[in-house]
Amino acid sequence: MLFLLSILSLLTCQAALSPVPPDQIFQYIDDHQDEFVQRLKEWVAIESDSSDPTKRGLVDNMMQITKDFILKIGGTVEMAELGEQELSSGKKIPLPPVILAEIGNDTKKPTVCFYGHMDVQPAKKSDGWATEPYTLIEKDGNLYGRGASDDKGQVLALLNAVESVNVIGLPVNVKLVIEGMEEVGSNGLDKIVEEQKDGFFSNVDYIVVTDTPWLSKKPGITYGARGNCYFFIEVEGARRDLHSGGFGGAVYEAMSDLIFLLDTLIDSKGKILIPGIYDDVRSVTEEEKELYKDLEFNLDELQADTGAKRFLYDTKEGLLMHRWRYPSLSIHGIEGAFSGSGTKTVIPAKVIGKFSIRQVPNMDPSIVEKQVTDYLEHKFSERNSPNKIKVTMIIGAKPWLSDMNEPQYLAARKAVTRVFNVNADMIRAGGTIPIAKNFEEVLGKRVMLLGIGGPDDSTHGQNEKISKYNYIEGTKLYAAFLQELASV
Ligand code: MN
Ligand code: MN
Repeated sequence: MLFLLSILSLLTCQAALSPVPPDQIFQYIDDHQDEFVQRLKEWVAIESDSSDPTKRGLVDNMMQITKDFILKIGGTVEMAELGEQELSSGKKIPLPPVILAEIGNDTKKPTVCFYGHMDVQPAKKSDGWATEPYTLIEKDGNLYGRGASDDKGQVLALLNAVESVNVIGLPVNVKLVIEGMEEVGSNGLDKIVEEQKDGFFSNVDYIVVTDTPWLSKKPGITYGARGNCYFFIEVEGARRDLHSGGFGGAVYEAMSDLIFLLDTLIDSKGKILIPGIYDDVRSVTEEEKELYKDLEFNLDELQADTGAKRFLYDTKEGLLMHRWRYPSLSIHGIEGAFSGSGTKTVIPAKVIGKFSIRQVPNMDPSIVEKQVTDYLEHKFSERNSPNKIKVTMIIGAKPWLSDMNEPQYLAARKAVTRVFNVNADMIRAGGTIPIAKNFEEVLGKRVMLLGIGGPDDSTHGQNEKISKYNYIEGTKLYAAFLQELASV
């Protein structure tokens, strides 16, 4: 007992120094890893699928369990109510509350707010899973289960880290925003962020999103994401679908017009043909080029994984820059076109082509909208078809780019080096992360994405997993980050 007390006092004494060497904490994490895996097992077991209204009770249940856990590790929790969701049937069901939690509130310490989510994508064994999706199975160093990586495993690693560091005292105040509707578009979260701007968020210094993968087995820190402008082009021809035997050769066909228009958007090398679209794209700096050199990324592995015959770029830098920091245009589908099996001989009356442009700093969705609309209308007028077109931008989500010289980035880089003995990969997301942009715009605080997922975790897919290595070493990463943040 006396021995224990003296160890404790030694630890407490060291806690007063800043930063505390994390070794005892790393040891603590190693010693508790079975318990951490067991926790994840309990969380994965709850089918908190936010897309299915009949499972809403399970999402609520998951939020409650998360709340209880935060209370257990010494936090305070407020459940912020979001009101109701109206289903397409007209029926209304309650939205799950958002957890706003706090662990420590010493005004002398910086405050870091983490964001994550407890809902998951749907999963059924019959989708092609090798094991039951809601039973966490450890196999070959991986922990398989829906939500193991996205995002229960990542949030839990953070909470495990908070608990572990708190054994000797947290050097920073921790806040948590945890929601239950992320997978279906974060319904109501914007409202809470806006409402709590001068409340819960008023003393927040840093915002960190714990819901992101690395580029490889090497830890990555995400500092940017592309935006998304999603367009519909509607082409309207005859009043009704026509028989190609009766009318083929006699009418201007909506589908031919649409195919023509879609084909004017992009060339075979991936270059977007819309005039002016590249005008506002930031040029690449030498400093930025340097970042790409050390990235651990293998084109052959990606090719094997995707089955793509050949990529548009054959260097790591070329490919990643075009995924992350240049705009891209993808054609997604045609509504109203015949797409069944067999040989229906129809001339569709009205078709809607769907495509999107992933855009980057400093592009502006409203300018993109005008460029796209003007171009398509111009191209269509050249065709001299009597059909009608309508171009609509359905989504206009802005890109996000942070400043990696901000203190939380420096702390995260130091933490990566401390835990993994490598320099972190500084990466971007090719997809869109509205939450990052939204936090920055509403709160005026810089956001960082510090996740611990692996690149091959199959989030949203069958056999989702997190490697035990990422989960446990990721817990250490969050622990080291909390400590480094106190001294940057
Ligand atoms: Mn997620
Ligand atoms: Mn997800």
